[in-house]
Amino acid sequence: MSASLSPTRTQFIAGKQVSSNGTEEIPVYDPATGEIISTFQGADAADVEMAVAAARDSFDKRIWRDLPPIERAARMTAMADLIASHADDFAELEISDNGMTMSMARATVTSCANSLRYFAGTIQKIHGESTDLSGGGRQLMAYTMREAVGVVAAITPWNAPLGVLVNKMAPALAAGCSIIGKPAEQTPLSSILLSQLLAESQLFPDGVISILNGHGHIAGAALAAHDDVDKITFTGSTEVGKKLVVASAHNLKRVTLELGGKSPLFIFDDAPLEHAIQGAAMAIFANSGQVCFAGSRLYIQRGIYDAVIEGVAKIGDAMKLGNGRDPSTQLGPLVRQEQLDRVLKYIEYGISDGAELISGGMREGDKGYFVRPAVFANRERNKIRIAEEEIFGPIVTAMPFDGLDELEALANDTPYGLGSGVFTSSNSTAHKAARLIRAGNVWINCYGILDKAIPFGGFKQSGWGREFGLEGLSPFLETKAVYNML
Ligand code: ADP
Repeated sequence: MSASLSPTRTQFIAGKQVSSNGTEEIPVYDPATGEIISTFQGADAADVEMAVAAARDSFDKRIWRDLPPIERAARMTAMADLIASHADDFAELEISDNGMTMSMARATVTSCANSLRYFAGTIQKIHGESTDLSGGGRQLMAYTMREAVGVVAAITPWNAPLGVLVNKMAPALAAGCSIIGKPAEQTPLSSILLSQLLAESQLFPDGVISILNGHGHIAGAALAAHDDVDKITFTGSTEVGKKLVVASAHNLKRVTLELGGKSPLFIFDDAPLEHAIQGAAMAIFANSGQVCFAGSRLYIQRGIYDAVIEGVAKIGDAMKLGNGRDPSTQLGPLVRQEQLDRVLKYIEYGISDGAELISGGMREGDKGYFVRPAVFANRERNKIRIAEEEIFGPIVTAMPFDGLDELEALANDTPYGLGSGVFTSSNSTAHKAARLIRAGNVWINCYGILDKAIPFGGFKQSGWGREFGLEGLSPFLETKAVYNML
């Protein structure tokens, strides 16, 4: 099977690949060239109805959740193998509509397979508890059960299209839920190949997995408003996350949110400098800064401020931008014209707000959406837009700091709390800092490492709940208490 750039049946409903009922044509761009490489018909309200009905039916008939746990685990593992055996095709499609580098595309496929394998391994470990009761003179026993939460809608972003979708499917399937994926309209291609593989393999009963490709404000909003959807799991902007909370109020859907960030990274003057500089550069430049936990606020201890800025700028300047298919490419394009415009606008804000542009920040080439990684110095730590707002691009704002006493106030002066980094050779400084930072993730002498076994998520306006690890399974389960008079 080869990857298709011109799919006709772009929706996966009730176990079959079908065309949308909708009439709206959505273009898909290759961000490396700016050319339209495909168009598809976006799912509309009627498609949502069909997908939700199929998901509800499969859930209510207990078709998936009542299979023996070992059988469900085997099917999830088979799905992992299926994805891994099409790694080249998936990587090609991820590069085609997202623009990511080959190494990231390949890592995405591995991550998807790992997610399915990790959560397949949890299925036989889902269990309740029993305990002695006080009883008040009665003889009682009680136990708890953990049951699938129901029909789940997974609304996912364009910055890691396949990875985020499968990361949400894996715990939902492990818990016994039926799931409807709604990938971002900018990056449908890998999810359509996944649909094709699922349709052909028939690994899961009809309706257990559906995938709707379409606009957020149409298909996504219809899922969020639907009373037969029991839970939303979302990765995307804080703005849309808040809309989903409001939309979920009607039937009090369970909601997990993985949202934006403005993550701080601190380099202390005792840090191994080359390593710290490399870490700070990749914390913001990887995937061209289109990462929710990108280290976009760089705090450098005053004595090494100029040396670190110079080092990060040098790395940015040397990075090779290009088409992700070229294995020597280090940075791909931004995903869309809108994103390029947004990043260039923030470069202008940085300059007009008084920061010093040390390097980069200009568009590269006249086709595609490439921008050179930008380093700004904000020596006075002014509260300017590039230092406060999430940009989702390769722009880092470097500010001086005077030591551990300042870290708590600086790190936490943001509505977000997703990622953070600390580079130091002192264990004491590192672990004191880890306690002081209000964020879901603290990386010490490294940045951006994720593992399926460790919960990932945000404090404050970076989200609700956690993904990965056993904690990542819990949002897909309800606990039921059963009392028995003896
Ligand atoms: P990003 O900033 O990464 O583009 P968004 O939050 O805009 O993130 O989009 C993330 C996902 O949310 C996408 O699948 C998008 O289609 C969907 N989405 C956007 N608006 C809505 C909405 N009003 N209701 C439901 N889903 C939406």
